[in-house]
Amino acid sequence: MANATELLQADAAGYAAASSIWSAGGLVAFPTETVYGLGADARNDRAVARIFEAKGRPRFNPLIVHVASVEAARRYVDWSDEAEILASAFWPGPLTLVLPLRADSGLSPLVTAELPTLAIRVPAHPVAQGLLTEFGGPVAAPSANPSGRISPTTAAHVLAGLSGRIEAVIEGGACAVGVESTIVGLADQASVLRPGGVPIEALEAALGRALTKHTAGDPLVAPGQMQSHYAPGAPVRLNAQERRAGELLLGFGTVDADLNLSPSGDLVEAAANLFGHLHALDSRGSPIAVSPIPEIGLGRAINDRLRRAAAPRDDRLPG
Ligand code: AMP
Ligand code: MG
Repeated sequence: MANATELLQADAAGYAAASSIWSAGGLVAFPTETVYGLGADARNDRAVARIFEAKGRPRFNPLIVHVASVEAARRYVDWSDEAEILASAFWPGPLTLVLPLRADSGLSPLVTAELPTLAIRVPAHPVAQGLLTEFGGPVAAPSANPSGRISPTTAAHVLAGLSGRIEAVIEGGACAVGVESTIVGLADQASVLRPGGVPIEALEAALGRALTKHTAGDPLVAPGQMQSHYAPGAPVRLNAQERRAGELLLGFGTVDADLNLSPSGDLVEAAANLFGHLHALDSRGSPIAVSPIPEIGLGRAINDRLRRAAAPRDDRLPG
């Protein structure tokens, strides 16, 4: 693609422009409540292939399909009682359900990396809702960053990583949740495949039972959940009690830090700040130390992303 990436506004003209780019097989990045997504028409093989190309993402790493409503989701997957419970409680919102793919889905097989299941979600962000409603079709959208790098939570992050490789990005401000969706597998035994924006405790309360939890590196975990991912350029040291010489400290709670995820120790605020603060510290080029974060609620998603950011780089498989 030779042309510059266009910055579209989140208004009727912007939605119409984005929708016609999608209809023509192009790529548009757009805000969701989790992170910015890189969207394409999920029924168009060539368009979906371009997502993998633009991100440098391996083709065996399947994509999440975004739709405007539960009714739309049911056209692509076999629905179930547990899907109904979770969708009623958390959609629209930062929850992805993995369900059996319907034989008549009409989706590109590239979306699912030819798996018999599909990851699908209804985002809550008003701009994502407006766009999906205007387009009227399923949109495949991974995070709008080069594969293996930090996820984008502003349009400026998207442009920094993908400018010139995609047709457009919609300006929608900073993402409120700030970490990716929680992924729950419902195709066989219900299990959490990735911690994310909906706390696992809330899912278990809605279902009335405990969920199996997989950890990164577990072979059963969702395909593409590689150990090293979400990585800044600089080395990252976790559970740091203090800043060592030459390090920048990413703090949490009452600590003297270069940037603080949440001085008051609020995990929701910390999740919203996570990728923006990592982008900002990474641009300064020094090693990054991170304060301990409690492993509860959104802390699980934050720690999952931080562990990947700190994982050894040699055996990195881009994700
Ligand atoms: P991303 O779009 O980068 O947030 O990543 C989407 C992730 O969803 C993939 O890396 C997979 O781990 C997971 N995923 C997508 N489709 C499936 C599926 N059919 N089964 C299990 N996990 C999936
Ligand atoms: Mg991603």
